[in-house]
Amino acid sequence: MADPRATVTRRGVAVLGSTGSIGTTALRVLGRHADAFFVAALTAHSNAALLQEQAREFEPSFVGIVQNGADDHGDWRHGPSCLVEAAMHEDASIVLNAVVGAAGLDATLAALAAGKRVALANKETLVMAGALVADACRLGGGEIVPVDSEHSAILQCLTGRAGTDVRRLVLTASGGPFRGWSRERLERATVADALRHPTWRMGRKITIDSATLANKALEVIEAHFLFGLPYDRIEVVVHPQSVVHSFVEFVDGSIVAQMGVPSMELPVLYALTHPERVPDTGVPPFDPIELSPLTFEAVRMEDFPALRLGVQAGRAGGCSPAVFNAANEQAVALFLEGRIVFADIAPAIAGALDALAGMASADREALLAADAEARRHVNAMITC
Ligand code: NAD
Ligand code: MG
Repeated sequence: MADPRATVTRRGVAVLGSTGSIGTTALRVLGRHADAFFVAALTAHSNAALLQEQAREFEPSFVGIVQNGADDHGDWRHGPSCLVEAAMHEDASIVLNAVVGAAGLDATLAALAAGKRVALANKETLVMAGALVADACRLGGGEIVPVDSEHSAILQCLTGRAGTDVRRLVLTASGGPFRGWSRERLERATVADALRHPTWRMGRKITIDSATLANKALEVIEAHFLFGLPYDRIEVVVHPQSVVHSFVEFVDGSIVAQMGVPSMELPVLYALTHPERVPDTGVPPFDPIELSPLTFEAVRMEDFPALRLGVQAGRAGGCSPAVFNAANEQAVALFLEGRIVFADIAPAIAGALDALAGMASADREALLAADAEARRHVNAMITC
């Protein structure tokens, strides 16, 4: 029998971070669309048991793990370089980057430079190195299609329309677990409180980012780089039900929004098929009455300072977005380890931004140096 992978219609997908929240969601979606896609490569950080299970089910020609522990998995590739190897794999024309944090940068750059589509969940890479990523797209002929639900929504609103017709983007934010909390109560918030997100089940880092609203800052910067709009035309509104995924306002004052029940399956599938759509049953039926009421409120900027810090870093440009991202990653790691409290996260980021604003940002090495320095700066906060 002919190898079904040889047919021209099926596209190979490398799933980086396949054992995480987005990675497992992506494999569910890919499992339903085996007529159009096959899994060409899988990578994970250290969950060898789940990776093994996934490899058995999807039979990719490449499996990579960053930290293998004591297990022997014959033909698996090991170490951090497996991400770039998977992204460059000849069977993969789409790279779904669902790695968390700056660790995903080189794989995004490599895939774009090789002319591939990057279905990007790993927003941190675009934040830390937006200009480099844009250069890699231009020089290599690759493209980024966002997986983040807000950016997928905006892309869906914009597809088929002229970019020059856009007046403003409005990103929605659930408000996270602490939306209604007073400032005094926020001072006492625990890790367990912060991990209890009201509408989304996600990995731990993005769940904490949603509690501080640093996630929304990352998303404003992400939108700036993806859609080329200046920061004063990108706004944020709190929408606790997470049903309207974002709004686009056009120059005539008309607003187009994209809606759906909160599920990452739809943006993952759209990132694979854009600009086409394929029939799918993954997302539960939309019932506007059941989902009512849909409400909107202003962001409490004073009580969630990470959002303002991130947008300021975006506006400042240079190394500041990379410093913001790395300081945030490090502060979130320290919070999850119980070494700082929730209210320490934003001041840690602010301290790093103040101290390191002048660092260089011209190339990958400079950005990695700014990233490392920001992490050191935040760590020093707990040792002094
Ligand atoms: P997660 O923690 O559940 O999964 C992360 C994955 O990356 C895992 O497979 C892990 O093995 C791998 N990984 C972690 N550190 C790594 C490293 N240093 N090197 C290589 N691989 C590593 O995270 P998630 O919630 O799936 O989020 C992944 C990305 O998608 C993040 O950038 C997040 O902001 C973004 N995102 C997530 C959601 C969501 O609903 N979960 C929504 C929008 C955007
Ligand atoms: Mg999002």
